Amino acid sequence: SGRSSFLIVANRLPVDRTVGPDGTASWRRSPGGLVTAIAPVMQRRHGAWLGWHGAADEKLDPFEQDGMNLISVPLSTEEVELYYEGFSNATLWPLYHDVVAPPVFERDMWDAYRLVNQRFANAAAEVAEHGAVVWVQDYQLQLVPAMLRKLRPDLRIGFFLHIPFPPVELFWRLPWRKELVEGLLGADLVGFQLSGGASNFRRLCRRLLGLPYKGNEIFLDDRVVTTQAFPISVDFGELDTMVRDPAVITRAKEIRSELGDPDHLLLGVDRLDYTKGIGQRLEAFGELLKDGSLAPNEAVFVQIATPSRERVEEYRRLRDDIELQVGRINGEHAMLGLQPIQYFHQSYGRKELAALYLAADVMVVTPLRDGMNLVAKEYISCRHAMDGALVLSEFAGAADELRQSYLVNPYDIEDVKRQLLAAMRATPHELTRRMRTMRRRVTTYDVDRWANEFLNALESPVSQSATLH
Ligand code: UDP
Repeated sequence: SGRSSFLIVANRLPVDRTVGPDGTASWRRSPGGLVTAIAPVMQRRHGAWLGWHGAADEKLDPFEQDGMNLISVPLSTEEVELYYEGFSNATLWPLYHDVVAPPVFERDMWDAYRLVNQRFANAAAEVAEHGAVVWVQDYQLQLVPAMLRKLRPDLRIGFFLHIPFPPVELFWRLPWRKELVEGLLGADLVGFQLSGGASNFRRLCRRLLGLPYKGNEIFLDDRVVTTQAFPISVDFGELDTMVRDPAVITRAKEIRSELGDPDHLLLGVDRLDYTKGIGQRLEAFGELLKDGSLAPNEAVFVQIATPSRERVEEYRRLRDDIELQVGRINGEHAMLGLQPIQYFHQSYGRKELAALYLAADVMVVTPLRDGMNLVAKEYISCRHAMDGALVLSEFAGAADELRQSYLVNPYDIEDVKRQLLAAMRATPHELTRRMRTMRRRVTTYDVDRWANEFLNALESPVSQSATLH
């Protein structure tokens, strides 16, 4: 089989299997900006994408989809449990998100993580042509850079972390901290969402491994690792076009009228994850109803909580908590035919989401910690009429760029209440002033720009002056 000069290595392939009414299976490209941004690069450069295809205990031959060569890395049921649900999502996910839930540290999970990372590295080493560019994605594969470099020192290796990189003091708890950091240092370029994550990483390398750094560069014995922030973004053009589609406009009006044409439609769109601060925002909304700041017929809160990681214990508990809370608030404040919180434990397609963004006049994004939060940028992309307010947590990566949002500390319920009210009471002029600036930012820094800046940095020649002394 042909080798590739450009490789993406990610936990998942960018496709989902769908079964048609006649029972035949086919592949459909997964939604989301990452694939959209990378697909053209793949097509231009005869690239390949390595990742798991989503079904356990199944081997799959390489196949082609949308001009992309897809190479499946198989996982067993036990590996899904230990490497994916376990080490990735019960250890690293909470550890990297400020320990907002307690991480589990289990040796068999770590063993599976290492084994699966080695399998990804082996697969990449096999298909990469001499001198190829390899771009490894995210927290599930942090050991791949070093494993791959060991097999193939000729490659140019980049790594991008989509989630936050934690402060040294939190990372320090990880029993396998040294191996994990050494894994990342196998890359030539390690990218983070924010400059804060990059500096956390550099400080960690100094404290843990005694490595010196200067500016963005960490100095190993024989080479230099560049660390840098590349805030990820959305496909602004796709959304901006979608919300001008008459069908989407009609749907947005329909949504509002089905909800009884409230003065204010507040919207939350999240995976049902404990990092998202769903409970905190509902608490604040409930208190506004309770203390009479809001009349029950004045505002409707639509909360979409997409099912996520339902086999992980912490997520089951969260679902129970949120559903209890929704029931309690609605129980106290509902009137006949009118529930203040409309809660959906369902997943929606791009068009329906665009219609919701268009229908909502207050977008509520209050994560306790979030690498970026694309929902915030998607909302901005949909508001071409320059109205609508974004209430945004200071702990979302997006807050670094979207300074004109109504910024909140999600742990401070009074602050959330105040900003929700401010967003609802703002004058059209004020909303436009804020939205215009935020839209300018997202148009300029869309997901294409993100991918290009990362790849330019990865492929730019190593600076010869890159020595410490
Ligand atoms: N999303 C979706 N359908 C849903 C809910 C969310 O397609 O029902 C998409 C949403 O449009 C966004 C992504 O899922 O692109 C969520 O990304 P984000 O960065 O906000 O959070 P993450 O889930 O990656 O933590």
